[in-house]
Amino acid sequence: MPDTLLQKLRAVDPDYYDAARVGMIEVQLERIRRLKRGRNAVLLAHNYQRPEIFEVADFTGDSLGLSLSAADVKDADVIVFCGVHFMAETAKIVSPRKTVLLPNLAAGCSLADTATATAVEDRVTQLKKTYPDLMVVSYVNTTAEVKAVSDVCCTSSNAVSVTRAVPAKHVLFVPDQNLARHVAHHIPEKTIIAWDGYCYVHHQITPDAVESMRREIPGIKILVHPECRDDVLKLADAALSTTGMIEYARQSSATDFLAVTECGISDMLQIGAPGKHFYRACKICRFMKAISLDDVEAALEKMQFRIEIAESVRERAGRAIQRMFELTGATRDNLALPDSAPDE
Ligand code: SF4
Repeated sequence: MPDTLLQKLRAVDPDYYDAARVGMIEVQLERIRRLKRGRNAVLLAHNYQRPEIFEVADFTGDSLGLSLSAADVKDADVIVFCGVHFMAETAKIVSPRKTVLLPNLAAGCSLADTATATAVEDRVTQLKKTYPDLMVVSYVNTTAEVKAVSDVCCTSSNAVSVTRAVPAKHVLFVPDQNLARHVAHHIPEKTIIAWDGYCYVHHQITPDAVESMRREIPGIKILVHPECRDDVLKLADAALSTTGMIEYARQSSATDFLAVTECGISDMLQIGAPGKHFYRACKICRFMKAISLDDVEAALEKMQFRIEIAESVRERAGRAIQRMFELTGATRDNLALPDSAPDE
């Protein structure tokens, strides 16, 4: 188990993380820890972030899991969200009384941007003429406005169970067409109408890279994110969310894995499961790598960039998230969602 920061970061990229760079990172991490204490802040880092950001994170995980963790921290005043814009919005939806900061506004998401609330409403109006029972299931990778015009939200790990549970035979699934196809494959008794968005990172991964790795390394376990194309998903030993991949790798007796998703998950796996080998058929998301330690430090110094959501949008988006918990049998009484107690 690597026990120094230099050893940890060198396990990820020995060329980039040399001793001089890691020395500077250590000094900056200490400044950020002081700022966090001064602001009474919690820092959340999505699994795809740069590895040095994990060092100052109070929580790491996937997008919804992080927001739920932050809501559990009752006495924090500030949430610094190291992820992308829609994730920071989700944190604000469930913790409206906390100040939520996104350290770099360039951290958007081209998948979330493929669906606007107006376009979804127009499509629903049109589809309901043919399918009056139609309901909208939206992946959490959507803006707060799109969540507000959806019946229920889902994550990549519960997309199948949520869609199966909605009381409608016809479902408009927004915005990821690959995840929609994965859902439709598991629920043949329903008609799933896919929005035509896709994640540019996952969509560009092809079967060739996966097949050649399987040929080269006998016994390798192929873990594929369901935002990948269908022809890549078919090659998977398991189709899993980012958090699911981490759990799978930790619990598996296998030693060699291929994480087919954004490259950050391989970095995290390498740090979190030493002794195992993680090969890459991944692509880097430019949005996920937008946030640097400099941005985090500036965010805490200047209290920037604040996430604000109109209360009417927040309430309706919160209702769609709350329905997801209801449909999956989970209870989240600590969230400031409709029919739940507000956070303090
Ligand atoms: S990996 Fe894809 S879904 Fe995630 S932030 Fe980047 S573009 Fe959006």
